[in-house]
Amino acid sequence: MSKVPTVTLNDGTEMPQLGFGVWQVPDGEAPAVVMAALESGYRKIDTASAYYNEMGTGKGIAASGIPRDQIFVTTKVWNADHGYDSTLRAFDESLEKLGLDYVDLYLIHWPVPVKDQYVETYKALERIHAGGQARSIGVSNFLREHLDRLAEAANVVPAVNQIELHPRHQRAEERALHAERGIITEAWSPLGSGRGLLDSPAIAQIARKHGRSCAQAVLRWHLQLGHVVIPKSADPERIAENIDIFDFALDEDDMAAFAALEEAKPWGKPK
Ligand code: NDP
Repeated sequence: MSKVPTVTLNDGTEMPQLGFGVWQVPDGEAPAVVMAALESGYRKIDTASAYYNEMGTGKGIAASGIPRDQIFVTTKVWNADHGYDSTLRAFDESLEKLGLDYVDLYLIHWPVPVKDQYVETYKALERIHAGGQARSIGVSNFLREHLDRLAEAANVVPAVNQIELHPRHQRAEERALHAERGIITEAWSPLGSGRGLLDSPAIAQIARKHGRSCAQAVLRWHLQLGHVVIPKSADPERIAENIDIFDFALDEDDMAAFAALEEAKPWGKPK
């Protein structure tokens, strides 16, 4: 079974560099899909209250029989729950649905600047972290200005910023900012979310050269740049394929060919 490397978060917690995302997995299918991922060797699962599958995800984790402390579980507070008290309530609901007494990482899903409550929301995350119910806390889809506000108002530097990141949208500036501030960059939609990235002839050429699939080549690109990745698949063969990437490496030419795929075109709408 593949050995997934870990990254060390700024609070000292170890987090697998490759995990499994469950967005768009229906709650009823989540137990089997999560179990398939855990059986393939994934030890990090990324869900969110907005995915409506925390219950199924928790069932899959429980049914796997793998000790809780060997699985890194992330969930996120949704936009509608911003604010201090409502975030604390939303967190309790997430824990209950997951059937867990702590999560490994709790994120603010989007900054929602129009509500202007993300600082209060983050204060609630700090309290949850201080109480030990989230081993680490962080953010998602935060831009420089949102991180700057937190840097002024918060006590805990976010451990992670989970952002849209793939070869067509490489976010060099954000990655450099995160590195400067000790924030780990986690790539959402690392495979481009099924929107044609994996049909790229340039990627197919690199994949052929290594006798690998396009998805495997893309995931190697992420890992070699130091990103944390959370690919999603509902297909057991692809689930296994996406973690089978630790016995080959892209060379400088491959990395340069990937760099040339940048389109600077975000697909996720800012909220
Ligand atoms: P991904 O980039 O992981 O791509 C998933 C798509 O690629 C699916 O259509 C899947 O189809 C297909 N796929 C997966 N593996 C392969 C393969 N080996 N070969 C061919 N096709 C493949 O997209 P997501 O948008 O799901 O992002 C991953 C995770 O990131 C989410 O599940 C979620 O956890 C997180 N996320 C976070 C966001 C945020 O705002 N914080 C926003 C969006 C995502 P199939 O299932 O049929 O295999």
